[in-house]
Amino acid sequence: MCRAKIVCTLGPASDDRETIRGLLSAGMSVARLNASHGSTADRAELLDRVRSVGEEAGVPVATMVDVSGPEVRTAPLSEPVELETGSRLRLVEDDIADEGTLGVSTSLSAVAPGDRVLFDDGRIESTVQRIDGEVPVVEVDSGGSLGGRKGVNVPGVDLGLAPVTDADREELRMAAERGADFVAASFVGSADDVYAVTEVLESFGADTPVVAKIERADAVENLAEIIDAADGVMVARGDLGVECPLERVPLIQKRIIRTAMAAGIPVITATEMLDSMVDERRPTRAEASDVANAVLDGTDAVMLSAETAVGDHPVRVVETMARIVRDVEASEEYAASRDGRMPAAGDGRTDALARSAGYLARDLGAGAVVAVTESGYTARKVAKYRPTVPVVAVTPDPAVRRRLALTWGTRPRHLPFVDAGAADLIEGAAAESVEAGVADGGDTVAVLVGMMTDLEGADTTNTLKVHLAAEVLASGRGVSAGRAAGPVHRAPDGDLADCPDGAVVVLPEPFDGEFTGDLGAVAALVAADDGMTSLPAVVARELGVPMVGDAALDADDGAVVTVDGDRGVVYGSDVTGR
Ligand code: PEP
Repeated sequence: MCRAKIVCTLGPASDDRETIRGLLSAGMSVARLNASHGSTADRAELLDRVRSVGEEAGVPVATMVDVSGPEVRTAPLSEPVELETGSRLRLVEDDIADEGTLGVSTSLSAVAPGDRVLFDDGRIESTVQRIDGEVPVVEVDSGGSLGGRKGVNVPGVDLGLAPVTDADREELRMAAERGADFVAASFVGSADDVYAVTEVLESFGADTPVVAKIERADAVENLAEIIDAADGVMVARGDLGVECPLERVPLIQKRIIRTAMAAGIPVITATEMLDSMVDERRPTRAEASDVANAVLDGTDAVMLSAETAVGDHPVRVVETMARIVRDVEASEEYAASRDGRMPAAGDGRTDALARSAGYLARDLGAGAVVAVTESGYTARKVAKYRPTVPVVAVTPDPAVRRRLALTWGTRPRHLPFVDAGAADLIEGAAAESVEAGVADGGDTVAVLVGMMTDLEGADTTNTLKVHLAAEVLASGRGVSAGRAAGPVHRAPDGDLADCPDGAVVVLPEPFDGEFTGDLGAVAALVAADDGMTSLPAVVARELGVPMVGDAALDADDGAVVTVDGDRGVVYGSDVTGR
């Protein structure tokens, strides 16, 4: 499993069920639906499709609707236009592209002579010469072929655009109604811009987490307040490399990752990660290094854009990315960089416990840290400290489970807490680490339980417990202490004539028989009866073997189980060596 997650942008190359299934099995954790292309209605259907394929596959895939925000794009064009270097262009708010005139999606009247206007991720550059009424006239400094719906950037100029456009509002309504797991907010410049998106979502009755895309120079300046306001951030390097000097992008990326990690919110590193694979079957070495470096920096997730949305082999790209991530994560260099960038313990109790859980798990050689979490908060705190063992997040809320798909190193699992007492909850959560395939039956795990508002006598709040991860077949009353494993042998009337050596003898209720045969073959007893003074209880104590009473054990004869007389539990395998 990759610990850094993979976000895939879906598009014409990848929006059918079969490809989505392929992306999931290759390692996609989050599907990004980009509102800059296609229609809101199509995205609504796609969101449902992704969720239904995820449910079919039993994989908790998250959906992220990326709203365009105050972006500027070229008009939709039927075919690209050639912009000659040295030519002059009028930029009008319209859907046209004539000789000397180019339509853009919003008025650029706020620009002034000398400002730079860049097209298509900065591939075409121009400078404002004069303003004709409200229409800027630019001279093309470096020309090229320009398509429709391509990005237009005016670095350092406040165009006075609202943080949420009318089109965004409709997109946010759809995201709220369909229960999107994340909304990504483009071109935010401040915490207020993030809150503006949250407010619209709230007005539609949704508490969808907002991922702030850092792609403007002022967003870099206001990073701390944006991270406070947002539920996640994205290093949106495409626009970032146009709005800021290109050479600053690598260090800005590192700074954003470090700051988000310290705050404990997920960070996605995005754009052009394996760009050559849009057409090619293999990435360039530089691209492989780029993915590796983001992982070494500690990013929660790496993102694919055109590679999966319109590329020739979307599934292969994800397989390639997953291979790079896994390889880096298995390296000594990764271990060293992880130790070097461990955030300082935060102020809260959960922070201290989450950090300790990681160290505890490492020191005990535990199979996993299991975070029991209602809102996802406890699991994110555990992930923040990047433990060396896998994080299994156990939550009763399917939406929280999907959201945790974006969180570094976390395997989210669904476990209803209804009617569960604290002990059962911890037992069940620990067993989920075996179900998730990250721990073996009998492994030790560190279980951290967050705030449990619904749990009776919520005495587990902020509990950190070292526990055994194993399937619990039956629980009851510990009648005689100790722990022993052996094959199940049912002896309804106490006849031990056929009892194999070292057996776990299972007795029914009522048991009114007599033991006959060799009592020395008995390794442990399990009785349906709950008495401490019944004949089996007396015999167990005399033999000095563990016994659990009041337990209905559903296991085949001959199946090996472990009887834990101290805990009053029967496990579904031999866990005595643990
Ligand atoms: C980016 O600019 O890098 C980005 C991820 O945003 P978009 O794909 O919307 O341009």
